[in-house]
Amino acid sequence: MPIATRAFAATDSSSPLTPYSFDRRDPGPDDVAVAIKFAGVCHSDVHIVKNDLGNTRYPIVPGHEIAGVVTAVGENVTRFKIGDRVGVGCMVDSCRTCVSCREGEEQYCVPGMTQTYGSADPKGAAVGQTITQGGYSDAIVVDQNYVLSIPDALPLDAAAPLLCAGITTYSPLRHWKVGPGSKVAVVGLGGLGHMAVKQAVAMGAEVTVLSTSDRKKADAERMGAAHFLINSDKDAMKAAAEKFDLIINTVSATHEIAGHLQLLARDGTMVMLGLTTEGLPVFAMPLLWRRRSVAGSLIGGIRETQEMLDFCAEHGIASDIEVIAPDQINEAYARLEKSDVRYRFVIDISQMGKAA
Ligand code: NAP
Ligand code: ZN
Ligand code: ZN
Repeated sequence: MPIATRAFAATDSSSPLTPYSFDRRDPGPDDVAVAIKFAGVCHSDVHIVKNDLGNTRYPIVPGHEIAGVVTAVGENVTRFKIGDRVGVGCMVDSCRTCVSCREGEEQYCVPGMTQTYGSADPKGAAVGQTITQGGYSDAIVVDQNYVLSIPDALPLDAAAPLLCAGITTYSPLRHWKVGPGSKVAVVGLGGLGHMAVKQAVAMGAEVTVLSTSDRKKADAERMGAAHFLINSDKDAMKAAAEKFDLIINTVSATHEIAGHLQLLARDGTMVMLGLTTEGLPVFAMPLLWRRRSVAGSLIGGIRETQEMLDFCAEHGIASDIEVIAPDQINEAYARLEKSDVRYRFVIDISQMGKAA
């Protein structure tokens, strides 16, 4: 039986999100059906709803930080059973045969992963769905290979943001081999930034936060940051020159990066995570003079996402959250655009369909 699903959707790039109903497919032999309990609100949701990348198809139900409980499994499903606490992140399928998929880096699938929302949905035809729809909804059906286990030590609400923010910061911290003695800077203390701080501290790094104001200084210190800089403070930036092995740049808008490159030590890397579409001026001199690099990184693979969830459980790390009702989503977007979030909005899906 198709699963009648209640959701919040955007119908165009400028109107508020509104209630929306649709059917999820009947779970197939390899599928897991999930009752969604909590959905994190990622800044990427805002970019996609506003069509910042220019390819959004409406109506769109955003949400790729999904935490819930299994309600049904197909006959081939071995890894999950009814009642299990599970997560779904940014992808629900990939080709499974390309070099990236074979190496467990499905996010870099050569023909392209199936994103949790906004991708062509090859499995939705029976219920009239042509586009995948995400987690601002009360149910989802996903192939077992793209479902994660949420460890018992993590509360479901604070675990939801790990499924995108948590893996997006964990993956580059691991790829660039952060450990005891590493000096890491995190630019932007939002949803991704606060996860980067907590994870890098847990890996043994000395962490510095770069922010646009001092509003979040006390929070950064509480999360374990050793230092805090305001990135418009020229003297402080000068004093921090050549200090960092790795800069995790989570800024969600086009911004000046040349000054940040000067903060890298020899062989240091700045990893860009923000979904900005305008060109960033990068000059050769600061790169070649200290063999510095500018890199990018996209979420993480399924195996690494499970590793990250287990790491967070082991180290007592979850997201700092503000829980909202589904009909507060438009207010949350407006606050996110002003960097006014401490540090992730999470939708309580049990309130779906109820008046606030
Ligand atoms: P967020 O919670 O809104 O945090 C972004 C932070 O960037 C803000 O808190 C603010 O930090 C800083 N910021 C915003 N505008 C700025 C500006 N004009 N100049 C300087 N700093 C500014 O967003 P998020 O959910 O963490 O996402 C961050 C970015 O990563 C978004 O673009 C999102 O789409 C992208 N993303 C990428 C991936 C990936 O796989 N690469 C995955 C998820 C998200 P302060 O208040 O500290 O200044
Ligand atoms: Zn995201
Ligand atoms: Zn592939």
